[in-house]
Amino acid sequence: MTSVALVAVGDELLLGDQLNGNGVTLGRALAGEGFSVVGHFVVGDDIGHISRAVRDAAARADVVIVCGGLGPTQDDLTREGLAEAAGVSLERDESLEAALRERFAARAGAAGVTVPAMNMRQANLPAGALPLANEVGTAPGVLILVNTRPVYALPGVPRELDAMVTAVVLPDLRARFPERPVVVQQTIRTVGLWESAVAEALAPEVDRTAGNPRIAFLASGGETRVVVTATGADTAAATALVDTTIGVARTALGSAVYDAASLEAEVVRLLGAAGATVACAESLTAGLLCGRLANVPGASDVLRGGMVAYATSLKSKFFGINRLRLFDQGAVSPETASAMARGVAEECGSTYGVALTGVAGPSPQEGNPPGTVYGAVHGPSGVASQLFTLPGDRAQVRALAVTSALAMLRVALLHDARPRRRR
Ligand code: ATP
Ligand code: MG
Repeated sequence: MTSVALVAVGDELLLGDQLNGNGVTLGRALAGEGFSVVGHFVVGDDIGHISRAVRDAAARADVVIVCGGLGPTQDDLTREGLAEAAGVSLERDESLEAALRERFAARAGAAGVTVPAMNMRQANLPAGALPLANEVGTAPGVLILVNTRPVYALPGVPRELDAMVTAVVLPDLRARFPERPVVVQQTIRTVGLWESAVAEALAPEVDRTAGNPRIAFLASGGETRVVVTATGADTAAATALVDTTIGVARTALGSAVYDAASLEAEVVRLLGAAGATVACAESLTAGLLCGRLANVPGASDVLRGGMVAYATSLKSKFFGINRLRLFDQGAVSPETASAMARGVAEECGSTYGVALTGVAGPSPQEGNPPGTVYGAVHGPSGVASQLFTLPGDRAQVRALAVTSALAMLRVALLHDARPRRRR
């Protein structure tokens, strides 16, 4: 496969002031076209560092794409870095100079306006390089050969980079490398399994496929996505490879796999299929669970409502938990979670009640460390509670608590939907 290496230029990227979003844009665009991105280099605004990175990238890949540092200011040094990498000097390009003068004249509304010397730097090009048209901004791109590899330098401004990737770089790459494999990708979502458990279940398939399809495991927010990417001579060949692996994954992962676009959408779908409704009783999440369900179009068919009982006293008031018993068992306990789930289902007249009570942090509560969360689901099969020990800061604990509750509700719905055995 044709390989591409990226060089992102900018002190702001190294200092952490700016995410390398251009790397994301380029990675996606190139992977989708059947190119293999083999590395990202990030360097500061320094001629020596830029030229070294460009030379290293050209030694490792068939194509190099540089972004940033093409502007008019002193810290925009990509032109100089490219010249050094190619071992040539910078020269004034007459067509670029004319275009700059025209642009300044148009802006000032008068001919013969002097272009500031700093801006004139944008008319410089390494000897032998070709300017690339930038229809969206002032900084032209640059195409130059380094070590016989094409090196495209693009502006750092994301809007300008996007436009040039589409209008200039991809068409040129397609023409240079007509024989590219077709890439087909499919994702399945899982919930309720650790990333390592998902990976272990698919280890034999990873071995069997030996890299095509490539199987990636992406864990975030309490869920794990399995991304299957295949390359083939044509779409049919690549699709066949993906389909086979997706089939194996579905079998290996069983009920952990769901098909909706999100976990909350899956829960809404299951509730709808069961003709059931749900209500939420929330303490530490204070409405986030209800809110996530309400995000799903069509939630009104299944979501009855919810109750937020943040203060301990409201837990006894809203859910009829005896105050002395609440004192004994604690606000953060399986008994309280269960009583909240049962209480909210009764109060709201829903088939299911889901409850969350726990410690979001940063300080412990009732001797429980942050991240201690009890979830409970009350439904036709009775009530079940579960302890979750969630990692992260306050925001993460609250978000993971919602995901955990949705996962519990999903399990209850799947269980209750199973055909009953006759006695
Ligand atoms: P300009 O003509 O604006 O100077 P440039 O090619 O010199 O263009 P930079 O000065 O490096 O580009 O960056 C311009 C803007 O684009 C900045 O706001 C910067 O934060 C943003 N930017 C630069 N590099 C990236 C990147 N890799 N990902 C996302 N944004 C970036
Ligand atoms: Mg700049």
